[in-house]
Amino acid sequence: RSNRLESDFYSFQDLLTPVEQDAALRIRDFMEREVRPIADDYWERAEFPYHLIPGIAETGVIGTMWPESARFPNSALFRGWAALELARVDASFATFVGVTSGLAMGAIGVGGTDAQRAEWLPPMGRGEIIGAFGLTEPLAGSDTARGLRTTAARTGDTWVLNGAKRWIGNATFADVTVILAKDTADDQVKAFLVRKDAPGFTATKMERKQSLRGVQNADITLEDVEVPETDRLQRIDSFKDLAGVLGPTRVGVAWEAMGIAAGAYEAALRYAGEREQFGRPIAKFQLVQQKLADSVADLTAGIAVCVRASQLEEAGTRGDAQASMAKAFCTARMRAVVARCREILGGNGILLDRGVARFFADAEAVYSYEGTRDMNTLIVGRAITGHQAFV
Ligand code: FAD
Repeated sequence: RSNRLESDFYSFQDLLTPVEQDAALRIRDFMEREVRPIADDYWERAEFPYHLIPGIAETGVIGTMWPESARFPNSALFRGWAALELARVDASFATFVGVTSGLAMGAIGVGGTDAQRAEWLPPMGRGEIIGAFGLTEPLAGSDTARGLRTTAARTGDTWVLNGAKRWIGNATFADVTVILAKDTADDQVKAFLVRKDAPGFTATKMERKQSLRGVQNADITLEDVEVPETDRLQRIDSFKDLAGVLGPTRVGVAWEAMGIAAGAYEAALRYAGEREQFGRPIAKFQLVQQKLADSVADLTAGIAVCVRASQLEEAGTRGDAQASMAKAFCTARMRAVVARCREILGGNGILLDRGVARFFADAEAVYSYEGTRDMNTLIVGRAITGHQAFV
């Protein structure tokens, strides 16, 4: 097929339905036309191109998972593929979409009542309301399942939230942030929709990141923030209920990792054909071919894992460990690919404007968020041995 990506060696794209393929091409076209030309500059300035939000929403890539917001019939496979399409051009942009569409809308879709879903999902799907998802804290990272310090105390129909969050993507500008906090009455995690103008809610941009610089991560403080019971997600009663949110997004991050690897690989392949040394293109050298061949094999293996994880998702039979394996495996393969691709470019591999350095740097954050490689590996370890190693 003429529209097959160079990085899609086994034509996985053909597994999408015709409607999904059209949507994938719409997303690709938007990313190539609007995002690629500016991605490096925004990354360097650590800014986000807010003006592109209506355009990306127009492609239908936000809110694909829920009937209230999906623009066309689509499968888990399509949703994964869309993450790849976004990340192969700009992983910061992919993360922006992943946070509002996957995490924030995911929490509302899984945890909201029908009325809450009807209120929030349609405008969020249109990109008119942007969401963030606040789980991680300064003192709780890998151990958020037990280690949250942020508290929610109920008096009558009002909750009062106190605490701090860290690393919260989109939160500097999001209209609504889903805040996870421990109920002081039963010590269980509950989820609250906190609007950006809520008194006592402050989100401060984290500066000096060297990875995913376009993502606007925030340090959040919550000082006696009042949230009505009607803005508590009614179907989240404990941390366990978040599995329905974090499972799909973990598979999504595995796809995103393959997108980053694809972006770096395609740039390195092009460069190898153009750059000449010893009187010939470096693509003619066996050692360069090996790096490219190993990279496309890593991509193919990783995408195959993603495809199957998404098929299990669609069938409703994917377990937590399958999501974790996809995330751990694909982020490790991504890291190997971007390192080889950076090497193929020689010195140019560390220059932003030669197409690989941004992917190389962004891979590091993707390797660690949504559960580090270690934690996801240990979740697989627990599933296959029956022994939990991380506590
Ligand atoms: P730590 O938990 O402190 O881990 C440090 C190291 O110790 C890691 O290598 C880890 O694997 C290892 N380790 C910890 N425990 C064990 C163990 N039991 N066994 C073996 N090794 C262990 N969070 C949100 O809630 N919302 C967001 O929108 C969001 N966006 C993010 C965006 C970016 C760019 C980044 C970098 C992070 C984001 N996060 C977000 C937070 C992210 O999920 C955490 O960084 C991640 O869960 C790891 O937590 P930590 O950084 O505190 O590392």
